[in-house]
Amino acid sequence: MYEIYVGIDDTDSPEGMCTTYISCVIINKLKDFGYNIKGYPKLIRLNPFARFKTRGNGAVTFKLIVNNFSSLPEVKKIILDAVEEFSHIENDNTNPGVIFYHGEITENLKSFSTKTIQSIVTISEAKKLAEEIGAEIHQFKKGRGIIGALAAIGCLLNDSTFELLSYRVPENYGAPRKINEDSVILMNEKTYPQTFDNIDNGYMAIEPHTPCPILYGIRGESPQAVLEAHNLIEIHEPLEGYCIFETNQHTDMHIQKIDKISEMEQFGCYQIEGSVKDVPHVIEGGHIFFYLEDDSGKIECAAYEPTKGFRNIIKKLRPGDEVVLYGGIGTHQTLNIEKIQIKKLEYQFEEKNPVCECGKRMKSAGSDKGFKCPKCGFKLRDGSKILNPVKRDLKPGSYEVPPSARRHLSKQLVRMGKS
Ligand code: ATP
Repeated sequence: MYEIYVGIDDTDSPEGMCTTYISCVIINKLKDFGYNIKGYPKLIRLNPFARFKTRGNGAVTFKLIVNNFSSLPEVKKIILDAVEEFSHIENDNTNPGVIFYHGEITENLKSFSTKTIQSIVTISEAKKLAEEIGAEIHQFKKGRGIIGALAAIGCLLNDSTFELLSYRVPENYGAPRKINEDSVILMNEKTYPQTFDNIDNGYMAIEPHTPCPILYGIRGESPQAVLEAHNLIEIHEPLEGYCIFETNQHTDMHIQKIDKISEMEQFGCYQIEGSVKDVPHVIEGGHIFFYLEDDSGKIECAAYEPTKGFRNIIKKLRPGDEVVLYGGIGTHQTLNIEKIQIKKLEYQFEEKNPVCECGKRMKSAGSDKGFKCPKCGFKLRDGSKILNPVKRDLKPGSYEVPPSARRHLSKQLVRMGKS
């Protein structure tokens, strides 16, 4: 008996399709031919800042069991034919890649995977590695998908979550999804926190907003939890089927913990500690910016409009506050905040005029002329402004963006104890 790793990526386009769906079709076809897979297929999310991603930068891998190597040509044909048939290959930006690999998950394969999740790699790096470890690559067009396909195979999951993806029948692709919202609310009440990110302030977070084959995705801690939740959802359209994936979603696998701001690079994702340098300011569109600093330098940080209520926390930060930020650096060299841990609030003061002996707050008597009481007329020639402590409307603790703005890889606070 042999175990063959299969990795697939870059099959979809903004107009539709989805690598998870193609993988599901392939797994079912393989089953029809008598081939089984070991464990759950894996949906591996890669660097959210990778340039050529369509949406969520996900790749799929699964471990196929074959009794002898003579079956391999048939197995490969089933997989490659399906990728060719279902991929949106006519789209300029769709460059599918498929990898077959029989062997150990070597250290260099693991490191390649980590690098693809945390920063940026090239097609030639993927090719060189595939050659070194003896992995077989299949590239369609530019074949950029071999990056994700190889990275998915090399991704070992110490922490993982599960996602049940249900698929629509093709004639409904692009039509409004018919999911009973009340049943989703009820499902959430019954299964949270074993399932999570189901709803967000009236917004159905389980439902994609693209013309892809997915009807809904339920995320949770175990296959049992997502299946139980799936059984509680009422829909008013037919399902083609569903598939449960083990995934690195919500594990913070994209985050590198570093000590110095000066070591942060564009398109990298980090956990970084520092202090707030300036009062956060809001720009048109409702995006909020401030600088974080440490001994090595400073970086601009942002909570964008889609992070909604999370911005109310960011707005209340003040210079000197000590915080830990989690997030990634995008095209504008700005750290997009996903989570914040406020460790210590700096005392803040405001300048006020002195209070008169009669109890009334005094007014300025003019430039360099001290203060004058508006009630009793008392004058204070040498008086100066007094620093009054300001009560902070913010508490130390951890805060996160809402589910609607959450990155696939971002670990929710409710999962923070899990490793
Ligand atoms: P979906 O999640 O909806 O299936 P997607 O967002 O995963 O789509 P793809 O169509 O898979 O997007 O395109 C992403 C492309 O970028 C793939 O070719 C993948 O190999 C490549 N890629 C992924 N991560 C990196 C990275 N860190 N560096 C360079 N290329 C990457």
